[in-house]
Amino acid sequence: MRTQLYIDGQWADPISKGTLDVINPATEEVIHAIPKGGAQDIDLAVRAARRAFDQDGWPQTTGAQRAVYLRRIAELIRGRSEELARLEVLDNGKPLPEARWDIGDAAGCFDYYAGLAENLDSDSSADLAISDDRFRTKVVKEAVGVVGGIIPWNYPLLMAAWKVAPALAAGCTIVLKPAENTSLTALELAAVAQQAELPAGVLNIVTGLGGEAGQALVTHPQVDKLAFTGSGKVGSHIMAEAAKDIKRVSLELGGKSPLLVFDDADIENAVEWIMFGIFWNQGQVCSATSRVLVQEGVYEKLLARLTEEARKITIGDGLEEGVLLGPLVSKQQYDQVSAAVVRAQEDGAQVVTGGARPAALGKGYYFQPTILTEVPLDSHAWKEEIFGPVVCVRRFATEQDAVALANDSRYGLAAAVMTTDAKRSERVAHALRAGIVWINCSQPTFTEAPWGGYKQSGIGRELGKWGLENYLETKQITAYTSNDAWGWYVK
Ligand code: NAP
Ligand code: MG
Repeated sequence: MRTQLYIDGQWADPISKGTLDVINPATEEVIHAIPKGGAQDIDLAVRAARRAFDQDGWPQTTGAQRAVYLRRIAELIRGRSEELARLEVLDNGKPLPEARWDIGDAAGCFDYYAGLAENLDSDSSADLAISDDRFRTKVVKEAVGVVGGIIPWNYPLLMAAWKVAPALAAGCTIVLKPAENTSLTALELAAVAQQAELPAGVLNIVTGLGGEAGQALVTHPQVDKLAFTGSGKVGSHIMAEAAKDIKRVSLELGGKSPLLVFDDADIENAVEWIMFGIFWNQGQVCSATSRVLVQEGVYEKLLARLTEEARKITIGDGLEEGVLLGPLVSKQQYDQVSAAVVRAQEDGAQVVTGGARPAALGKGYYFQPTILTEVPLDSHAWKEEIFGPVVCVRRFATEQDAVALANDSRYGLAAAVMTTDAKRSERVAHALRAGIVWINCSQPTFTEAPWGGYKQSGIGRELGKWGLENYLETKQITAYTSNDAWGWYVK
């Protein structure tokens, strides 16, 4: 496990010499200490990224050259995948099979953006048709500059990959501030980049607190673009800070995503997808389908089957065989989820199952899979992201009611619809105000497809070609092809 920051191609102690404890959420034990970077470390990192961008020629490399580095990084991640997955479990708590999945996806993200980097070489050569044939115009895409990336703790290495891979593919340089709770694999990504011989300053990793290192990155005048994933509160703050010097900003924030089950749905399938949508990663997923809306005819049956399955889930240390639900990431998150469930009950909600820590587990930030019903529409539990294994289930009568209930939220990240009626699924998919709609499934995510939210769930899209656009500027280059300058003015 690393103990230093990665700045300008070198490992360095933070200037303050401060550290932050790393706690294994399954045991509550301190297992390591990471460097606590601050404003001065961020300044060094941004200056290195600036130099790599302005002077060392990273943006002038061809996409094909950058693709070589990205593929090397993917390969090196794959070569260490088991070790990285285990590190992720120790840091974040998620079950090992989920961590393995994340590491594979992170490597895949680097490979995918290697391909898009290569495409950039050929994309910008064609002339644009314009209305005056004395001019020739073409449009080129260029890197936006120095990126400040800030990521959360729910998918530590994968969220790093979602920022770093497209930024490097575009020709940007980046300073990444991982979440204070889960920085271990981000520091390993720095080691991987070093081994891949990525030029100094192109990728810099500064661990530290959001309010210190994060804030310094957000307000640094030499950063051109901020890419953030996390809470709406911090996202809003970052957007306000970015406004001061018109930094580009993309935000991937939370949600309160609905999943609609119609009378004609396959109930067993629906139950499985609901479980996946709310209990995977302990429910700490921005797109978690935390509001389940069920049509009257199947409500009782679905609730009974869901409750039965939720009670069967094996809870424990993510490194143990057969565990499906690990601990929440931190004491803070455990306290937040517990408080949200208490508050829901005070507001009138019924706890059908779960609602507390499992009695058998004395240590660790464990919380049972929890199902709430009778949740008032104006309550905190119905409206706000809980970010834990807590699902609100509610009945509806008509398709129109279901869509209205689903859309009655300030969020709009994802939504899912379960029905065997193809016309209905199409109609409802279009009516739902969300950036991602799943039909007869929940949560599958593809590197090629756009990821992001409507309304207060964010701005911009990650992944796919849309994710690359986040890191590109658009430039027109127009040439006058006649010698008669005056002729154009007096036309
Ligand atoms: P957060 O506070 O928004 O943290 C996300 C990242 O922003 C972290 O790296 C954090 O650093 C950093 N940060 C915090 N304050 C900052 C500031 N003033 N300037 C720059 N960076 C700053 O989220 P959280 O505390 O980890 O979780 C709180 C809630 O956010 C969760 O309960 C959940 O509802 C939501 N959340 C959403 C997602 C998502 O994928 N959409 C992911 C995680 C959490 P620190 O690590 O030091 O706080
Ligand atoms: Mg925080």
